[in-house]
Amino acid sequence: MVELHVFFFPVMAHGHMIPILDMAKLFASRGVHSAIITTPLNAPAFAKTVQKSNDSGFQMSIKVVEFSKLSGLPEGCENADQLPSAMLPKFFNATRMLQIQVEQLLEEYRPSCLVADMFFPWATDSAAKFDIPTLVFHGSSFFASCASEQVRLHKPFKNLKHDLDEFFVPNIPHEVKLCLSSIPPFEREETDKELAKLQTESKEAELRSYGVIVNSFYELEPDYADHYKNVLNRRAWHIGPLSLSNRSTEEKAQRGKKASISEAKCLEWLNFRCSNSVLYVCFGSICKFPGKQLHEIAIGLEASQQQFIWVVTYANGDEEIEEWMPKGFEERIEGKGLIIRGWAPQVLILDHKAIGGFVTHCGWNSTLEAISAGVPMVTWPSFAEQFYNEKLITEILGIGVAVGAKEWVLGTGGGNIKREAVETAVKTIMVGEEAKERRNRAKVLKEMARKAVEEGGSSHSDLNALIQELDLFHSSG
Ligand code: UDP
Repeated sequence: MVELHVFFFPVMAHGHMIPILDMAKLFASRGVHSAIITTPLNAPAFAKTVQKSNDSGFQMSIKVVEFSKLSGLPEGCENADQLPSAMLPKFFNATRMLQIQVEQLLEEYRPSCLVADMFFPWATDSAAKFDIPTLVFHGSSFFASCASEQVRLHKPFKNLKHDLDEFFVPNIPHEVKLCLSSIPPFEREETDKELAKLQTESKEAELRSYGVIVNSFYELEPDYADHYKNVLNRRAWHIGPLSLSNRSTEEKAQRGKKASISEAKCLEWLNFRCSNSVLYVCFGSICKFPGKQLHEIAIGLEASQQQFIWVVTYANGDEEIEEWMPKGFEERIEGKGLIIRGWAPQVLILDHKAIGGFVTHCGWNSTLEAISAGVPMVTWPSFAEQFYNEKLITEILGIGVAVGAKEWVLGTGGGNIKREAVETAVKTIMVGEEAKERRNRAKVLKEMARKAVEEGGSSHSDLNALIQELDLFHSSG
């Protein structure tokens, strides 16, 4: 049998780098030589895992391509989380500059397969030049992929006029309603030509690719895994939850950026609390609320009288003034609330038995990490496919409560959510009979998630099937 050599090429954003690193590690643990393509300033985020994997006898490596000098972006800017949201379209557009260097790598190493991020539609054609198959990675759920594709194809919102007017997502197994304002502006009016073009190219490249690799597990969304394959006719493999490949405390604590709190301090704080008594609040790597919204969150959290860990990341400039913080807030919450400014060891926190709820922006990684930990959610979507994930969490899986965010806004979290809405949603998720039932449903899903990645489980088997198929393809090529 010829050894498989797979290249993984994540867009430079933590929400994609983190699951693709987990994926590369998983492939390596099955005897595949996994190489990650990234830029100089992002390479350190992969280095430790690659080293550890090599120390354990598996084969992983990093291939570096230059970015910031070519991109036209500020020097040293190589990750989406470094930019104000208005510059994100420019960032994604600038990644096209990587094509020549990526093609040089593909020509030199001739990997058996390229796993390419959906943000690099050109990569499918680059790989095809060297007869290398491409697997596309979206980083989203089957549900969101199906629903967003049906909405994109049928535009069921086209006769609606007001932001809060609702429409049904057509042709999907459940009745799901969305409101006009939760559709990205570039889909509604084609205002942002760059993002609209990227989306179209990405969809077209996906159809030319070998298939799609999905960070999900069959039992979580069986109707949509089937719909994606049988109705939308996509070839797809589900191999998640990828975060479950991190078993040790160290692996769980060190994902993405360096955490702003030590694992020891974090665990010490949590170890003192009762089971299911702490709320975790975090909005991912990109979404940064304006001070005004942080202020409302602070007052709402305090009024809910729940214990909490709140990860605060600032919109540009706000970190200087901290005007959002209500007077005396930190003193009043002492012992009850922990604020982490910057980056939290999220999986370590979610997996702790003290965590009883999660206020999330519904990024798919965060959603799946909460599901894998059996934690119910307060949903607060902001952009990307997060409004679809909210519907999966609240209406299909029945493990969440919506805070009431309705407006798709890139990066800054549309917000305008009032303190009362925060307080009500938090209390609903944390206390009472319904909260218990919701939590029980979440715990059932947690067990299903863990079974899926064990030997004989659906994700474990699908990864085996994919590797076997790539092997056959490679040997016969
Ligand atoms: N994350 C983390 N600490 C933080 C914020 C985020 O570890 O303080 C991780 C989180 O566990 C998840 C990823 O960053 O794996 C965020 O991905 P997601 O899809 O949830 O949201 P995005 O950042 O892409 O909006």
